[in-house]
Amino acid sequence: VQNQLIKHIVIVGGGTAGWLTAAILASDRSVKSLLKISLVEDPNEPPIGVGEGTWPSMRSTLKNIGISETEFIKCCNVSFKQGTQFISWLHGKNEKYFHPFSYPVGYPNINIARYLKPDNFAQLVCEQEFLCRNNLSAKQITTPEYGYIANYGYHLDSVKFSQFLKEFCLKNFGISHYLGKVKNIINNKFDDIEYIETNDHKIKGDLFIDCTGLSSLLIGKHYNIPLQKQSHFLFNDRVLAVQVPFGEDDTISSTTISTAQSAGWIWDIHLPNRRGIGYVHSSAFISLEQAYRELTQYLAKTLKLEQIEKLSVRNLNLNPGYRTKCWYQNCIAIGLSGGFVEPLEASSLVLVELAAQFLSSNMPNNRLMASVISQKFNQYINHQWSLIIAFLKLHYVLNQRTNSPYWNEHKKKETIPESLREQLNLWKYQPPWHLDQKSSHDLFPPVSFQYILYGMNFQHQPINTQYFKQNELNQVKHLLLQVKDKTHQMAQALPTNRQLIDKIKQYGLSMI
Ligand SMILES: Cc1cc2nc3c(=O)[nH]c(=O)nc-3n(C[C@H](O)[C@H](O)[C@H](O)COP(=O)(O)OP(=O)(O)OC[C@H]3O[C@@H](n4cnc5c(N)ncnc54)[C@H](O)[C@@H]3O)c2cc1C
Repeated sequence: VQNQLIKHIVIVGGGTAGWLTAAILASDRSVKSLLKISLVEDPNEPPIGVGEGTWPSMRSTLKNIGISETEFIKCCNVSFKQGTQFISWLHGKNEKYFHPFSYPVGYPNINIARYLKPDNFAQLVCEQEFLCRNNLSAKQITTPEYGYIANYGYHLDSVKFSQFLKEFCLKNFGISHYLGKVKNIINNKFDDIEYIETNDHKIKGDLFIDCTGLSSLLIGKHYNIPLQKQSHFLFNDRVLAVQVPFGEDDTISSTTISTAQSAGWIWDIHLPNRRGIGYVHSSAFISLEQAYRELTQYLAKTLKLEQIEKLSVRNLNLNPGYRTKCWYQNCIAIGLSGGFVEPLEASSLVLVELAAQFLSSNMPNNRLMASVISQKFNQYINHQWSLIIAFLKLHYVLNQRTNSPYWNEHKKKETIPESLREQLNLWKYQPPWHLDQKSSHDLFPPVSFQYILYGMNFQHQPINTQYFKQNELNQVKHLLLQVKDKTHQMAQALPTNRQLIDKIKQYGLSMI
């Protein structure tokens, strides 16, 4: 069995994780020339239908798959996302800060945070803050596909996205597609999966990828790999989600708007034709009825009561956690089957991209090699999970509310991961930088931590200015002026998010 060649990959599940993984593997020429790829999905169990925000990494992922950005924008109701806007996270009084996708000026050569007082950090160091604040676009109609003036990811309709990926895969890659519910999973004598069965098909394979979403059929139910709960760090375990119609002239935000509530936060994502809104909260701190009331109050800021009454609200339960072995035997979990925590920084789809890309660039030839690569994969994915947990928790720990049980609990030492506690201690003396990073593949770079820290008014001890050389100080001054100039230029040159999307629908973006 050790020499058994890997020739056939079977993906179970046809949500975004399944089709994105299929597309990433099938578009890698070396993988495609050696391997057969099959995907089986249960037509009676649709994909989860949420997951509307991506990271900028999605641009290169789609480009490498060979997808036209114009087609993607037209088919998936896409708008451009340039970061996240956090409202009421510090005091609960409508104050706001931004986490833009662009790096601070001077990155990676100079850590500009060392030289500044943290007030208005994002605005000082990054022209994108202005674009976000004013709902401007990240590029012009003349900027080629996937090119950018300011770094961006996407907001999209997740149902349309998985359908779009499916159609692209079936048209362009020779993927064998089976419809049916997988009912039996049969192992060989070495405890590897040998084949799976639906009512109509028996599908043999060498590697099986579990993309069955929260049902986690292969890694969870079949192999019993437990979910490591993270609810002691991240308390949110329930979501109330709605979709709200949007007029053709309504302003499309350039950011995901995330507004803190009494026991969680509400996301507000603007697509060209609708808003996706959801209250992510902790059932231990708020009743369902009260959560409905808070969501209604949020909606009432922009909608009339009769409009709100017509909306259908989806109630989803979450079990925050991840599997410490996402690759076990010849089975690999990608997507929700491997774990999920609240979507505060849209970390789920980017983890699908990273996992599938890891697999594609480290595709084992045979079973022996697979068992070695699986250890690397698990280390890599576990590291990303720890980083996600720490980064999300950072958003909560610096809140300055005094009279809220939920927000107070988030500040308690025992609810903060040890790695984050150590870092917070270090950051008292020096801003986050490359030393905080374990690998260049880290999902969140140290500068993302800077935006959250300084957005939440974190103060590090002032560095003795005598340490700074005059030429460094001159350079900093020059860089800050550069941001001001560029902001001014971009303000003149960039259309609004909606203007650009309308133009793309009319003319398309130029090909690269
Ligand atoms: C409230 C919420 C908000 C989110 N927001 C974001 C966000 O902003 N950004 C982000 O990156 N992510 C977000 N996510 C996560 C994102 O939705 C998922 O990562 C993404 O949709 C991938 O899901 P999936 O493909 O793993 O699972 P699913 O979409 O659930 O797909 C599961 C597939 O498995 C198939 N299946 C199941 N059982 C069987 C069986 N027995 N036989 C055959 N097929 C089977 C189903 O038919 C389906 O095709 C969010 C998630 C939630 C819950």
